[in-house]
Amino acid sequence: MLPPSCFIRNPSPTFLPWEWKSPGSRGGCSRGTTSSVLLSSPSQRPVRCALLGAGFAGLSVAWHLLQHSSKELRVCIDIYDEVGIGGGASGVSGGLLHPYSPKAAKLLWRGAECWKESLNLLSIAEAAWHSRESTSETQEFDQELNGFIVRRGGILRPAMDIKNLNVLNDNCLASCRIEPIDKDTAQSLVPKLCVPFNTAFYMPKAVNIHSQRYLQALFLACENLVKELSTSGFGGTKLCLHKKSVNKLLELQGEYDAVIICLGAKADMLPELSGRLPLRTCRGVIAHLQLPDNIGEDYSDHSPSILSDAWLAIQGPRSLYMGSTWEWKSRNYLPNVSAEEATKALQELLPKASAIYPGIKDWTFAGARAGLRAMPPLTPHGSLPLLGCINDLVGGNHTCKYWLFGGLGSRGLLYHGLLGKLIAQAVLLGNEDLIPSELTSWRRKSNS
Ligand SMILES: Cc1cc2nc3c(=O)[nH]c(=O)nc-3n(C[C@H](O)[C@H](O)[C@H](O)COP(=O)(O)OP(=O)(O)OC[C@H]3O[C@@H](n4cnc5c(N)ncnc54)[C@H](O)[C@@H]3O)c2cc1C
Repeated sequence: MLPPSCFIRNPSPTFLPWEWKSPGSRGGCSRGTTSSVLLSSPSQRPVRCALLGAGFAGLSVAWHLLQHSSKELRVCIDIYDEVGIGGGASGVSGGLLHPYSPKAAKLLWRGAECWKESLNLLSIAEAAWHSRESTSETQEFDQELNGFIVRRGGILRPAMDIKNLNVLNDNCLASCRIEPIDKDTAQSLVPKLCVPFNTAFYMPKAVNIHSQRYLQALFLACENLVKELSTSGFGGTKLCLHKKSVNKLLELQGEYDAVIICLGAKADMLPELSGRLPLRTCRGVIAHLQLPDNIGEDYSDHSPSILSDAWLAIQGPRSLYMGSTWEWKSRNYLPNVSAEEATKALQELLPKASAIYPGIKDWTFAGARAGLRAMPPLTPHGSLPLLGCINDLVGGNHTCKYWLFGGLGSRGLLYHGLLGKLIAQAVLLGNEDLIPSELTSWRRKSNS
């Protein structure tokens, strides 16, 4: 039985955007239909949304649903996560954020917009975090892991072949520019860095985040926004987090106007979606390394993180994460890493890291964690997340609309801001056309 705490019933049923049905449809929102008819009706009851998953995807959608609330269109959100905030891949992510594909040596799909929206969410989360009341608990949390949510140290990628030199150079983006730098300049940023082709690409504005803390802060920002909305006469806007597993969509039947599935690699473990999503899973292990006290020369607090065949996400002068492995088709979504799996990951990652940063040999192993990526298929625009209304996939005759926001692959941080905003708008207006067709075309292929 689902917790009733957030539900506000309207005694006189009102025609809501998502209740629109095209003739003969099973409640799906066909392209080309907009049904924002009653958005201006002040008598409308709150829109009841179930958000499944509290990772980058789920919390971005929560923020944007709340942000697009108005006096006329209030939202009541229940977030369900079986583990809690950051319980999946987001919580273990390396936290590296930049808008480029180093392998393809180009800007990613809508890279500039995605970058801007993600940075915006990071700032919102940071502001909420810093506005918290200071208690002994928050102080202790802040002291752990050097206390940052966003580390603005930039990211450096030594060129690995000649192709990179030219193409990345062509793709400069004002807010996250790439500066080609020579070996000496690169080594002034990271002493003793290996720069095989005498060129490295420096993204001074690129960031790495502390994923768990960012997600906690984003949730706090959502809670703050609900309080703000309530005191500004937007009563009825609500947000509840339930630590609970949703085993099938049927469980939610009748309770919600919209169900938004943000379950990462576990989306296709729902019986209604099993085998119907074009996703491949890929487990990644990240090792936490520390510099022992007897090593005097630490990693400068101002030095960038490093991208190469293995990446180093700097957490502080004596703490970094090294990633990541790629175990395709794994179904193991547990964050725990056995001694055997950790040893294997170190054997794979250390040689790659030391080829670029030989100083890594001084660092010692302090633990490992892992997550399961949900990898989407390759399209002419690259590997793009899967979005859209999926009532046709779910089947049955529902008054509720089911939406998917999944397949964020290895770039969840870059995509979560913009795409979370787009799907929130589409959900509220019951209009899938607000989502670019590149992101919904997968569903037409699945149906055919
Ligand atoms: C090792 C590794 C390193 C990575 N590094 C980076 C990086 O540096 N930069 C980057 O941008 N991306 C990185 N990624 C990718 C990024 O982590 C993902 O793209 C992103 O986390 C996906 O977010 P999500 O919200 O879709 O899924 P998730 O974060 O997996 O969230 C899904 C949530 O749903 C919950 N859940 C699952 N099933 C149920 C259920 N039945 N009922 C209720 N709740 C459920 C889970 O507990 C989880 O909290 C990395 C991924 C891995 C594995």
